[in-house]
Amino acid sequence: MRRALTKTRIRLADGRELIYFDEPGAPRRDEVDRRKLPEFSTAIELRHDPLLDAEVVVASHRQERTYLPSEEECPLCPSKAERSTEIPASDYDVVVFENRFPSFASVSSELPPPPEGDTAVVRSEARGRCEVVCFTPQHDLSFAELPLERVRSVMEVWVDRSVELAALDDVEQVFCFENRGEEIGVTLHHPHGQIYGYPFVTPRTRRMFESARRHRDETGRSLFADVLAGERKAGTRIVAEGELWTAFVPGFARWPFEVHIYPKRQAPDLEALSDVELDELSSIYRDVLRGFDRLFDLRMPYVTAVHQAPVRSGRELAYLHLQIFSSRRSPEKLKYLAASESAMNVFINDVQPEQAAEMLREAVARGRREDL
Ligand SMILES: [Zn+2]
Repeated sequence: MRRALTKTRIRLADGRELIYFDEPGAPRRDEVDRRKLPEFSTAIELRHDPLLDAEVVVASHRQERTYLPSEEECPLCPSKAERSTEIPASDYDVVVFENRFPSFASVSSELPPPPEGDTAVVRSEARGRCEVVCFTPQHDLSFAELPLERVRSVMEVWVDRSVELAALDDVEQVFCFENRGEEIGVTLHHPHGQIYGYPFVTPRTRRMFESARRHRDETGRSLFADVLAGERKAGTRIVAEGELWTAFVPGFARWPFEVHIYPKRQAPDLEALSDVELDELSSIYRDVLRGFDRLFDLRMPYVTAVHQAPVRSGRELAYLHLQIFSSRRSPEKLKYLAASESAMNVFINDVQPEQAAEMLREAVARGRREDL
């Protein structure tokens, strides 16, 4: 069912935008950010790598960002009388704000001109937008522990932000993601996700669409739909099957534990999903996350990537899906991006996808039984 969320926009002390998304019954959000912050400014540039035909973001100001603060210093907890955080209110449901240390910014960067004579590098401004999504005021909770209604609210917020960011002139692709764990590079413990509005189409998306275009030219069919049909026919790597969605470990998984969640019909982006599709996605996504945590009975580090159509190209080829993966391959061992992965982009997976699927299927089923 559609979540009726109340949207309240404010400006933080340095000019960044913050938006509360409140569920019914929340109080008015009229608190003011009383911090003394320097005006929001960034120092980011894009540099083009001609060898890979890809952009590199140079964002040196991110070195200054808050790194694993204690709960007493957490910038994502609500504000208290004695301490102001990024969120001026004393409580919240879901809140979104512009990242103070973004990789792409809505304001011009203050960059010195390149050294005279340095024409080796093609530089451009890293315009775009980076947002932080906080989905609970509780510092120690994780996404998998949210009530289903709140997960559904987050989905609604993902849709809202995807539509709004796609309307910005500088944005070519909107990427909603969520992750957890120091092991994969999270710098704040407080549960949160992020949304990037990239000023270009990302290399992975470009590559996927090249494959999809080729497949369509050769067969007339959607590559993504064929991958899903193949997995459903094989059955051995299915983790959870709903009426409208399927969760599976792809037979070509790169990570020790990797699950893709596909809708059973082709939808290019989050906005194209119906209310009932978002309802079922909320529960199947939460089931998969809970399954991850039950694998070894510990909080798994993970990344969730929402793959959706770029803003201005490839819409007819796009097939929205979620990709969730963990770098933990056993209770004691992590998978690192070593020489082959980081230098050659060839992944070596230590866990057989069929075995990972069996373990995850059992863990998801156990989670559902425990919920009853
Ligand atoms: Zn916190």
